[in-house]
Amino acid sequence: MISGNQTWDLAALYADLADWEADFNRIRPLAEAFLAYRGRLAESPAVLRDAIAAGDAYERLGEKVYVFAHLRSDENTADNANRARVDRVEALFASLAETSAWFDPEVMAIPEETMKAFLEAPELAFYRRSLLELLREKPHTLSEPEERLLGTLGDVLGYPDKTFEILNDADLDFGRIRGEAGRSEPLTHGSYRRFLESPDREVRRRAFRRMFGTYHKFRNTFATTLDGAVKRHVVGAKIRHYPSALVKSLAGDNVPEAVYRNLIATVHDNLEGFYDYMKLRREVLKLDRLDMFDMYNPLVPGCRREYDFPEAVTLVKRALAPLGEEYAGKLELAFSQRWIDVPERRGKRSGAYSGGCYDSYPYLLLNYNRTLNDVFTLAHELGHSMHSYYSNSTQEYHYADYSIFVAEVASTTNEILLFEHLLENSSDRAFRAFLYGHLADEIRGTIYRQTMFAEFELLIHELVEAGTPLSADLLNEKYFELNKLYYGPEVEADPLIAVEWARIPHFYYNFYVYKYATGMSAAIRLAENLRSGDPAKREAYFGFLKAGDSKDVLDIMKDAGVDLSTPAPVAAALGRFRSTVASLRAELGL
Ligand SMILES: [Zn+2]
Repeated sequence: MISGNQTWDLAALYADLADWEADFNRIRPLAEAFLAYRGRLAESPAVLRDAIAAGDAYERLGEKVYVFAHLRSDENTADNANRARVDRVEALFASLAETSAWFDPEVMAIPEETMKAFLEAPELAFYRRSLLELLREKPHTLSEPEERLLGTLGDVLGYPDKTFEILNDADLDFGRIRGEAGRSEPLTHGSYRRFLESPDREVRRRAFRRMFGTYHKFRNTFATTLDGAVKRHVVGAKIRHYPSALVKSLAGDNVPEAVYRNLIATVHDNLEGFYDYMKLRREVLKLDRLDMFDMYNPLVPGCRREYDFPEAVTLVKRALAPLGEEYAGKLELAFSQRWIDVPERRGKRSGAYSGGCYDSYPYLLLNYNRTLNDVFTLAHELGHSMHSYYSNSTQEYHYADYSIFVAEVASTTNEILLFEHLLENSSDRAFRAFLYGHLADEIRGTIYRQTMFAEFELLIHELVEAGTPLSADLLNEKYFELNKLYYGPEVEADPLIAVEWARIPHFYYNFYVYKYATGMSAAIRLAENLRSGDPAKREAYFGFLKAGDSKDVLDIMKDAGVDLSTPAPVAAALGRFRSTVASLRAELGL
């Protein structure tokens, strides 16, 4: 049964559609007001300040209008009126794209001496950080006609990615395989994971071989799309005078290359811990050698206990107690102000997310189904929403939006706190083993596996930088080698795993996945800090929640108690992995 307080309160954002329409109609005039500053930025610090503020005002209202349309549409994706509102906002933004493209180049064109004085002017004190951030790109910015040319080509240059997506998501057909009890079932991206979780090894093997056999058939096309995407990153870095594609992609967050390379080196130093987990897996599954399709079938029977929503809420609140009373009070707002849309419904968008904008609640969409996994999702998404809540209520709009680099830290910290709380309050060995297995798998998937991807990504970019084209044979060879290194002596991999690279969309994202690994390492440390009960450490954590984008990400993390410029946090997280595997082994009585 759905009670009123199990749906989110979008009326707090717009009481009725007429208000939304009124704001929608204000967007274009705000964009035009911003555009009126074009050609004037070098006039005075006050003019530049007002121009930035005008740009923010336009963006801020645009976000509010878009977020409402988007959330309302997710309530019922089958509703055409909902969809139409999203389309209208998107079309409006597209037609206004030109009204803001001029700004960055014009700031960069301000003569150096003038800019130097501007940066010292009190009128621009508040915007100093964001101006310096923009000016960092100045040496990497081309002349106006060149930038315009590149801008025009932008869409065309994205075709390797687009072709990959179309081939991977639409055209590739994996057919049907014999599932459990001999039933013929369709193999899809979605069902693949379910097959891999089957206790029947033959089902797992069939799914694996069909999946990668299909990729194998198309390996040359996939190699071409990946080669194209990597080349674009490499050429893009070269024409913008960056020493490498890696350095260019890290520059946005002002993250030094060493962070990336340290991550890989630290994971290499801790592969023994991973091999030990593989050994445990092999022993529990009673196999001579593990294969790559023996990685996701649960070692411990799943948790069948069900949690109704109020129970989940109580559990999560208790788990988050180490964050203190202040946090608990704000967390209460999620329920009293109805930030959350809880139940599954026909037409509702699937999955779960936290979403909103500066002028809205940090809403949460769930499809709550009473499993323990759903309780973890609640803790996770509340982590995102509370992070947004604190950043939005502390920072001005201009600096409120936190970087992707830190985006998963608060959510993962909450998950770990829930894990610790459940563990602490259970003496049931099977349940404890399940929890340890759950954490081990999270760390394996987020730190080990994503770092392996990060290493592969670096390797293929370096190959292209050295002038080596990425053929399917070369990609297979390199991937297989890396897979062997990461999975170790307990695993004898089916050679088809060599083509797994073809399936990973993240290799097109330009050095994105390493953030998963650094984010989780940070979260493990922060959860530990919070549970220590040390008020100074808690205060430091709140500094992170409130920071938004007011500082560089590495500084935010460092002030919160995690220095990601050193290998220590990743090493500690992998130490935690080892002890988790040891606990799992003990709970299983092995
Ligand atoms: Zn998340």
